[in-house]
Amino acid sequence: MPQKNCPNCNKPLKLLDFAPFCCKRCADVDLSRWLKGSYVIPGQSLETTDDAPEGRRSSEDEF
Ligand SMILES: [Zn+2]
Repeated sequence: MPQKNCPNCNKPLKLLDFAPFCCKRCADVDLSRWLKGSYVIPGQSLETTDDAPEGRRSSEDEF
């Protein structure tokens, strides 16, 4: 049986209860990291595409 290491802290796994992690803490850390990463929507960070229809209400610009 090959010895596995925890992907989070790189310690050898003693229990397989939280495999592939060594403990619940490491599993939680990795899970939260993974979730945070997946929550970030690419391309939608700072710029708010606020298309207000009131943007062009000066009729002088028509000329
Ligand atoms: Zn660990």
